[in-house]
Amino acid sequence: MPRTKPTPAGHGGRIRETPRSVHSLLAPLEDLAATSVSLFPAHLEYQDRKGVSGQTPRFLFTGPGDRGSFLRVGIFAGIHGDEPSGVEAAVELLRRLHEDPQPALGYELFVYPVCNPWGYAHDTRWLKSGADMNREFWRGSDEIEVLVLEGQLMKLAFDGVVSLHTDDTSPGLYGFVKGHQLTRHVLEPSLEAASRFLPRNFDMSIDNFQANSGIIEDGYSGVLGAPPTQKPRPFEIVFETPSHAETGLQVEAHAAAILTMLGSFRAMISEAQNI
Ligand SMILES: [Zn+2]
Repeated sequence: MPRTKPTPAGHGGRIRETPRSVHSLLAPLEDLAATSVSLFPAHLEYQDRKGVSGQTPRFLFTGPGDRGSFLRVGIFAGIHGDEPSGVEAAVELLRRLHEDPQPALGYELFVYPVCNPWGYAHDTRWLKSGADMNREFWRGSDEIEVLVLEGQLMKLAFDGVVSLHTDDTSPGLYGFVKGHQLTRHVLEPSLEAASRFLPRNFDMSIDNFQANSGIIEDGYSGVLGAPPTQKPRPFEIVFETPSHAETGLQVEAHAAAILTMLGSFRAMISEAQNI
């Protein structure tokens, strides 16, 4: 995600001519949800400033366990439309949880597989307006796709916020941590789990940030995350796969990372409650 790119002057005609179909991408999940007691489509309809209607896809997955103490986690993919591995991983994650819900024990998951539907359809990083969606959060943006997700982040006050991205300059896996001070301990085992599929980036500097074994405790402003006013701070992780790697391996790495995060986050919370 976070490499610095020149601000586009429009899209320069570099968009995909035959759009990818968000509908086709999500159709298998809609089919599964039709008979599921845990997976629900709950898409967000909106109208932009010009009155054009649009939709941010959203699925809910309720894991097994006591609903009264559920942890609520938001998983966001396709913020940059030219990073399809995170999008496919979000779909794959829900498919796997439908088959075996146990990794979601104690969780209510809100999955936003395609946060920038226009960008995904046209295989471009940018929003239709030309803006980089991941520099627009909590800065008074009037981009409708951003406003819709800011509304969700405010209303749902997630315990954990996970974003999936790919990086075209990194040779390996890494992630950004923010929010709760123990977040790096949630990311660490998930990098380890994902490294079964792709190597971790151990460079001291990644994307011009200081890094420690693939973990960066810094980041760009304007990235998708919890509202600045939210207390206590949730776990916030941006997980990055190297975009040059085979897409299938990136999808596996993303999926393994998220499933591991859910396990370690749950363990950490229950430990904290027992102290
Ligand atoms: Zn990205």
